[in-house]
Amino acid sequence: MTVVPQPPESSDDVDLDSAVAALEGARRVTILCHVQPDADTIGSGLALAIALHRKGVQVCVSFDGLGPHNAAAPPPGLPASMLGFPGLEHLVPAADVPVETDLVVTVDCGSAGRVGALRDRFGGARRGVLVLDHHRSNTRFGTVNVVDAQAESTAGLITRLLDGWGVPIDEDIAHCLFAGLVTDTGSFRWVRTGTHALAERLLATGIDGPEIARTLLDTHPFGWLPMLSRVLGSARLVPETAGGAGLVYAVVRRDDAAGLRSEEVESVVDIVRTTAEADVAAVFKQAAGVDVWTVSLRARGGTDVAAIATALGGGGHKSAAGYTAHAPLDEAVTALITTLG
Ligand code: MN
Repeated sequence: MTVVPQPPESSDDVDLDSAVAALEGARRVTILCHVQPDADTIGSGLALAIALHRKGVQVCVSFDGLGPHNAAAPPPGLPASMLGFPGLEHLVPAADVPVETDLVVTVDCGSAGRVGALRDRFGGARRGVLVLDHHRSNTRFGTVNVVDAQAESTAGLITRLLDGWGVPIDEDIAHCLFAGLVTDTGSFRWVRTGTHALAERLLATGIDGPEIARTLLDTHPFGWLPMLSRVLGSARLVPETAGGAGLVYAVVRRDDAAGLRSEEVESVVDIVRTTAEADVAAVFKQAAGVDVWTVSLRARGGTDVAAIATALGGGGHKSAAGYTAHAPLDEAVTALITTLG
């Protein structure tokens, strides 16, 4: 008999039993993903929804920005690269998320603000809010908080939760979990002990790992190339910042991104952060207002960008974080440089 090693237990304060206890007995559950969703939040949410649905639970998954949809039209707001995920039938437009339910579960959300306007649904959850997350900056905003800052992905945490609950992981659930795992590890670059064992276990269900990864990470329309040309031309190096470790930043104006998906815009930071001369990389993305910027931060080495982002009103991981700046661009850049020191 072959013994397949299971992923190691993470930090001792991760109480999966309390998450199972919160889920047990809930007949209606609302799962909330974060705004501007990535594959980890959507994959985690859908995997949990599939499991709950099989247990006979009335479950819906949503996020602020998810519009009305039907069988003929894809859900507005859901990144196109995720349209092949199993469990999409559990998605409910944000406006239709029930006001009252038994339990609200947030997945991959480091703070209440990450669910946007849907945080108004917290009050109608009779059994409270269950927070499932892996962000170091998590504010523990739930009634029950299961936060594993050591986990490489929320999908990894969900896998251990399903194991603890005795839920078998089949191909559909594995597809959703693998999507979160492959994206949050940057195609298995940012891994820890247990990450590959988890990937192996998910792949063994029969999912097409290469196709899931290609769809999520290696597929862009042609318009991505001229956009990169313009945006990368805006890149600036500030070597004296961050105590001499250096900052590199680039700017994506709305005009640059016109007609492109969020996937193309979100990919920019992965190129900017490869700059050898800077420990910190930032991409300023122009949001709805002229002077509103969504800022992605990455660190190559010692800088804790979660602390920087938190100081500027956001949050995240030590090496990947973000915040929103409400200021003209030059002021927003200066504020970041000042905070980095
Ligand atoms: Mn995540």
